Amino acid sequence: MKRQILILYTGGTIGMRSSAQGYVPDDGFEALLKAQLDTRPADQLPDYQLLGFEQLIDSANLTTDDWSKIGQTLLDNWNGYDGFIVLHGTDTMAYTASALSFILQGMDKPVIVTGSQVPLSELRNDALDNLVTSMMLAGNYKIPEVCVYFNGRLLRGNRSKKTKSTGFDAFDSPNFPWLGEVGINIGLRPELILSPEKPGFKLPVYQPDAVVMVQTYPGIPARIIDSLIDTEEVRALILQSYGVGNPPDKNQALITSLEKATGRGIVVVNLSQCYQGSVYQGAYATGATLNRLSVIPGADLTLEATFAKLHHLIGLGYDAERIRQQITTPLAGECRFADQNSFACP
Ligand code: ASP
Repeated sequence: MKRQILILYTGGTIGMRSSAQGYVPDDGFEALLKAQLDTRPADQLPDYQLLGFEQLIDSANLTTDDWSKIGQTLLDNWNGYDGFIVLHGTDTMAYTASALSFILQGMDKPVIVTGSQVPLSELRNDALDNLVTSMMLAGNYKIPEVCVYFNGRLLRGNRSKKTKSTGFDAFDSPNFPWLGEVGINIGLRPELILSPEKPGFKLPVYQPDAVVMVQTYPGIPARIIDSLIDTEEVRALILQSYGVGNPPDKNQALITSLEKATGRGIVVVNLSQCYQGSVYQGAYATGATLNRLSVIPGADLTLEATFAKLHHLIGLGYDAERIRQQITTPLAGECRFADQNSFACP
């Protein structure tokens, strides 16, 4: 029997059209997609059904409510299809792919998140290739993961990042190898792909205001942190510090503010502003300050995966201690814990 996939269309450039205000979501996408796919050899593609969001979005407007909608739709349709595609804007694609990977832990079917930099409606575009290849991947391959497919790269979703604003090669996976590369042939790396486990799907009740984030910068005033945590709703703070996880520790007011945060039970996760690499919180005396404050070194997690994971754990109702334990424990291949003593300091 021919394999069946569900394409969930949430919005994004792939289905947009030009307007006087720039690109806007277009609900004529389904007809356009059908017209394009009808010209392809049908035997190579799985059968598909397209389900569009009632309210198509530019993913810059994404909220955790959209994760609930996408997650619920996937769960409702899980048994009816062999694979899934989520068509999504590129701006927050890595956030959504991460969130879905936590919802669908243990999954046994592919979910490929894709989109494009140029709409399908334009003569020259990257939409058709991203879509057709994603359909083949979702329909014909054993990839029990949430992936981002873009411009020939198959990436673990919760390791992915939008790295280029205008290039077609807009996504990469700085801390994890690509799961596959598509050129003339589709080349997968099965040794990297997760194995299905006993599915433990859980859709959290997201708390939209629970996670906040801030980057250190030279001269950052403590009031930035104070104002971020100045509400009861905040349960977690992502701090993006320098290099291997170094904050400006001579900024005593800032350190006091961070201490206030952890003292109030806010989970503070320290990530690096660097594009690639892991946090070694203690390689430098500056970073070691954060160990004393019980700030969690965020290993090699991306910002997007950390944000989604914190929301997931908070949305499941976990307390601070449980979140602290889980944040650097891989749930869906999103991180590898770096031994904090393994940083070479001659
Ligand atoms: N702003 C668009 C979006 O994220 C960009 C894109 O899809 O490429 O929806």
